[in-house]
Amino acid sequence: MQSGSLFIISAPSGTGKTTILKKIVAAMDNVAFSVSHTTRAPRPVEQDGIDYFFIDKDNFARMQQQGLFLEWAEVHGNLYGTSSYAIQEATEQGRDLLLDIDVQGARQVKNKLGHTGVFVFIAPPSLEELARRLVGRSTESEDVITTRLKNAREEMKSLNQYDYVIVNDTVTEAVEVLKSIIIAERSRKRRSLSGVPLKLIS
Ligand code: ADP
Ligand code: 5GP
Repeated sequence: MQSGSLFIISAPSGTGKTTILKKIVAAMDNVAFSVSHTTRAPRPVEQDGIDYFFIDKDNFARMQQQGLFLEWAEVHGNLYGTSSYAIQEATEQGRDLLLDIDVQGARQVKNKLGHTGVFVFIAPPSLEELARRLVGRSTESEDVITTRLKNAREEMKSLNQYDYVIVNDTVTEAVEVLKSIIIAERSRKRRSLSGVPLKLIS
């Protein structure tokens, strides 16, 4: 079976990445979301094992020492990491995987996997709109929002290192563009549009 592709998706916090990725997973076959590990506290709407694996710093350090992460980074004061095993399992089953990781993690994945990954940056229409979305989400304190906005300016500087840039002006349009990128990648690998490997010659 042909293995699935890795889509490495980065965006400044509050851009709308989670909103877009959830719609993609719901709308497309054979696409899964890579569930990261984090030491951040869960938000009220978040579920362990679905949005993240919420673990404490000791367990995170243990996973680091055991070399279980494909990549990991400290982002906005918390630790986040992607398990190598989960990635391997999903892609070997032929599923495309969406990795929601920050610019530091994306750089690590690029160094390890090179061009086998598809790198997508989602940008907000403006920093003012980003601030409105972060405040509107009401999940972070004022201090945390200030840190995330400060980091957003830095993160935007990495935009040129990505294969694709999507501006999340409207969710509908951004979802359509990301769908098109996934479909294009499947076509490049001669897979059907639903993600199943094509049998052109028996
Ligand atoms: P991220 O995962 O990038 O941190 P979220 O998906 O949590 O961002 O979105 C942040 C906030 O912005 C949420 O309240 C979400 O409903 C809202 N949002 C997302 N996309 C848009 C958009 N295109 N226009 C307006 N609001 C948006
Ligand atoms: P949040 O706390 O808003 O869920 O995520 C904050 C930031 O951490 C986002 O930029 C998100 O992409 C990033 N992030 C989430 N999971 C991972 C991961 O496994 N690795 C890395 N490097 N960053 C992650």
